[in-house]
Amino acid sequence: MGMETPGLDSLIGVGQAIELIDAVSVTPRSTLKPLRQALGLRLAEAVMADRDYPPFDKSQMDGYAVRQADVPAEGSAPAALKVVGEVAAGQWSDRPLEPGQAVAIMTGAPLPPGADGVVPIEQVRPGPAADQILISSGDWRRMVSWRGADGKKGQTVLQAGQLIGPAQMAVAAMVGTGMLRVWDRPRVAILSTGDELVEIGHPPSPWQIRNSNNSMLYGLLRQMNADVVDLGISPDRPDDLRSVLRDGLMHDALLVSGGMSMGKYDFVPKILQELGVRLMITKLRIKPGKPFVFGIGPRGDIPPEVDEQAYAEIARAPRPPLGSAGSCYVFGLPGNPVSAFVCTVRFAWRLLARLGGGPVIEPWRDGILQQDLPANGPREFYLPARMEGEKVYPLNWRGSADLFTLAGAQGLLVRPENAPAIAAGQPVRILHLAES
Ligand code: AMP
Ligand code: MG
Repeated sequence: MGMETPGLDSLIGVGQAIELIDAVSVTPRSTLKPLRQALGLRLAEAVMADRDYPPFDKSQMDGYAVRQADVPAEGSAPAALKVVGEVAAGQWSDRPLEPGQAVAIMTGAPLPPGADGVVPIEQVRPGPAADQILISSGDWRRMVSWRGADGKKGQTVLQAGQLIGPAQMAVAAMVGTGMLRVWDRPRVAILSTGDELVEIGHPPSPWQIRNSNNSMLYGLLRQMNADVVDLGISPDRPDDLRSVLRDGLMHDALLVSGGMSMGKYDFVPKILQELGVRLMITKLRIKPGKPFVFGIGPRGDIPPEVDEQAYAEIARAPRPPLGSAGSCYVFGLPGNPVSAFVCTVRFAWRLLARLGGGPVIEPWRDGILQQDLPANGPREFYLPARMEGEKVYPLNWRGSADLFTLAGAQGLLVRPENAPAIAAGQPVRILHLAES
């Protein structure tokens, strides 16, 4: 292929590839989003309490607000208190409670000044007079949530980097943060290449096959919380490829499948280089997936003369902001769907996780192998497997095009390079994909 970078044609191991990819610096993009649109994103900035929580001394029960000083001692007769008013949730009483007085109070209501306890209604008996109640001994201060007990004004209530789920959304709402500064979803373009490919809905001729990779990549990327721009299929013609790859480079990342190896019509890596993409990996000791490419390109900005309408048609998605500089991370995936799947999960996911402001999470599981496996060859092998609890059943490997088997797998059993034969009952590592 005539690549200038030294050592590029050498096969590297999976571990080495991961080291290279993890060493690449990425800059997530922060954006301000309305609270509900931040679901599933990570905070770029901490959220603080706007006041004390609870903001006032709050009754936990329906009952009577009292002065603890009026409560009889343990073993003494019940004390009679005069009921002088009522305060419900949403009301505010500023009349101080005098000694010997009580105020009816509802859950969530603020204690009147002077009160420092609440006797639950179940613990109160009618007093000798109609406006009196009888209360017994007890520490009724326990029935009060004190102002600031949960958090003080100015305190961090959500940390930068935290993932926004339902509970975090409730906290933001509680402290009045209607707009959250979050790390934006990476915008990732996907492209399939191959003269033999047709889209769903297009009846294939006997020699044609349907494009399954883009649907798969869409799913894998949505699982990563990326925004996906589907660039469709390009034929194996350099001019077409050049033009659509240039479109692809206008995104934070580009996942392109097919045309990555050494065949007569495998033009993709060379054209990527022509477009300024620095290829860092071109071949990998991985099975399935050997013709894998990773590179960093200059992120093309959409030239101002391109009108929005035209771009929207190309990309079928909102255009990225004009003038945003940076890199486009390019993953060149093997055309075979299972290979493309494994390479995306193993390599693209981890970089995209960082691009989304998050940590790299590898869903490893430990399991017990349920059948003997032969020695592995020189490439790290990801074998689709079914899991039942700890039990791992390797599936019948029919090769890197066998999507049917992959679709029945809950994980990928990892066999290291040149691993010896392994017997049933031995522990194995699984890259977990899905619950059954
Ligand atoms: P390639 O990497 O281009 O040599 O393709 C390897 C194999 O994967 C060939 O059998 C292709 O037909 C198949 N293939 C390539 N792209 C796709 C795709 N998008 N969907 C399904 N199969 C594909
Ligand atoms: Mg091809």
